[in-house]
Amino acid sequence: ALLCPPAPAAACAGEVPLLPVVGADTRVPLVPGGTTRYVDLDSAASSRALESVAARVAEALPLYASVHRGAGYLSQVSTAAYEDARETVARFVGARTDDVCVLVRHTTDALNLLAGCVPDGEAVLVLDCEHHADLLPWQRRGPLTVLPTAASVVETLRALGAALAAAPYALVAVTGASNVTGESLPLDEVVALAHAAGARVLVDGAQLVPHRRFSLAGSGADYVAFSGHKAYAPFGSGALVGRRDWLDAAPAYLAGGGAVQQVSVEETSWAAAPHRHEGGSPNVLGAVALAAACDALAGLAAEDLAAHERALRERLVDGLGALPGVRVLRIWADSTDPTGVVSFTVAGADPGLVAAYLSAEHGIGVRDGRFCAHPLLARLGVPEGALRASVGVGSTLADVDRLLAALDAFLSAGP
Ligand code: PLP
Repeated sequence: ALLCPPAPAAACAGEVPLLPVVGADTRVPLVPGGTTRYVDLDSAASSRALESVAARVAEALPLYASVHRGAGYLSQVSTAAYEDARETVARFVGARTDDVCVLVRHTTDALNLLAGCVPDGEAVLVLDCEHHADLLPWQRRGPLTVLPTAASVVETLRALGAALAAAPYALVAVTGASNVTGESLPLDEVVALAHAAGARVLVDGAQLVPHRRFSLAGSGADYVAFSGHKAYAPFGSGALVGRRDWLDAAPAYLAGGGAVQQVSVEETSWAAAPHRHEGGSPNVLGAVALAAACDALAGLAAEDLAAHERALRERLVDGLGALPGVRVLRIWADSTDPTGVVSFTVAGADPGLVAAYLSAEHGIGVRDGRFCAHPLLARLGVPEGALRASVGVGSTLADVDRLLAALDAFLSAGP
């Protein structure tokens, strides 16, 4: 009888990339000489583009032309591509039918835009664990309450509830996942507390949306913002998606062409959102890239995406825990299911020096510093900064093992 060759064993979560990214085999120089395959463990800062995103951009590049007001064929093609991208992005974040999707440059852009739309004089509430992009627009706008983050999720939710009961707020702006630790508060509970007090909820989805399935309709959140360059598309595209009324009532984010209905020398009538807030020629290729990334992520089973990153995080956290003098940062003792962002310190070692060593001698890219979250790093007792490794769909267990081995070598070499 003919014997069939054994079926290849299915790869375990984390063994192979979940989706192919461009440049995965890039080689970089090493200080002792030679080269090595670059290990990118900094996808929380900017993730490498998916191959499917690169292909979609390459297809669109020869066809792009100015959108919305051009009569030429390519203008029509580009307008359709841009507006299709808007729909894809809205669908990807589970927008309700009456939500608006404003295409912006990145999360920072989205949050500054929304800060100009919260009704005048009404207050915003945030926690002190936010990325600066979800703190400074509110701080500049005022009035703002910044609530200290408690040591547990339970106590933090209790403090949030108490603050919401004590004063009226228009908006609670909360991270979907921390860019320092990958942790999050249970969004449904934040939404329930805020809505019970008459406040809306903005989710800073920069570190959440590319890593877990998120839905505005499902979570009940009112707005979400995220960046393409953290979601496997190149720079320059992002989105603010959510309730229409504030966006329609606010002044245009950028005054200029595209944002208007009718202009005379004396006065201007402005377009409704989203166009109201998209003054200037839009980034058509950025929108195409963003939509391609959304399509690719939406094509994964939610459980596969989460399982891949959980496997990598677990290996990383376990490995770091086994290294002497390494401390993994946590905001909350009782948070569940953090994403693949892990910050840590090495006792007695300057984070910048460790990061430089990892790059120069091992070809590993991590981040060091204060991660645009100075108040949080101060709260965690590391005001001088830390190291951060982060994984995504293109990362593998082998990447994590390279980092752990390099840190082991660093520690073995001694001071
Ligand atoms: N929010 C979070 C949680 C982030 O991690 C970042 C970027 O690191 C931002 C907002 C700002 O994103 P962008 O720089 O793309 O505007």
